[in-house]
Amino acid sequence: MISQPQSVADLQHNLELVRERIAATCERSGRDPQDVRLLPVSKTVPEEVLRNAVAAGVVMFGENKVQEVVRKSENLADTGVKWAVIGHLQTNKAKYVAELASEFQALDSVKVAAALHKRLQLAGRELDVFVQVNTSGEASKFGADPAAVPALLEQLAGYASLRVRGFMTMAANTDNSAEVAACFARLRGIRDSAVRDFGENVCGAELSMGMSGDFELAIAEGSTCVRVGSSIFGSRN
Ligand SMILES: *Cc1c(COP(=O)(O)O)cnc(C)c1O
Repeated sequence: MISQPQSVADLQHNLELVRERIAATCERSGRDPQDVRLLPVSKTVPEEVLRNAVAAGVVMFGENKVQEVVRKSENLADTGVKWAVIGHLQTNKAKYVAELASEFQALDSVKVAAALHKRLQLAGRELDVFVQVNTSGEASKFGADPAAVPALLEQLAGYASLRVRGFMTMAANTDNSAEVAACFARLRGIRDSAVRDFGENVCGAELSMGMSGDFELAIAEGSTCVRVGSSIFGSRN
């Protein structure tokens, strides 16, 4: 596990190491590294470190808690950095996401979509969203059931303020890499079916999958966005 980055140079170094691993995996998989976005996940990391990350070139952070992203977006407003909310959302907090997020990656119900749409209309905004799917079947994981995705997409088409960009998942929590890869392959299959049945203009084609421990497996399975926290910012303990 890497140590806490203390300076802009430390962050540049950590980002570079992750980008090199992304590039090497793309090369092995016959993919273009340009097709894989690195989303640095900054949860629990204090604002002064995030300022250094912005100075190191980061333009968007992923955060999983609404309260934390509200605070950080205020404290870093002067930097112009963007925010992706990547954690489960309760409808009573939809207002904050509608007002401050550039992207919401954890959309898993019509209820949340309706709440966001209402708040987005009030704010006069649109929002890029990813449908989160529970590909592991673990009860502890959020995300729509794979079988429920087509019906969810059908209903999302009614919310004009939500631009569906694709799908997001967290793999099974296991050291068994075949099982982890199977979760990623499942999300790709869900995306492929959705694109076939609804068209890319309705459901998007992005695949947000892969974190510090498994992003190489995710890229091999087609990930277009890896959400990496501890490999950039150090362990959260
Ligand atoms: C924390 C988090 C990550 C990043 O996890 P690391 O293992 O630190 O890379 C990615 N996605 C989500 C949804 C998270 O909550």
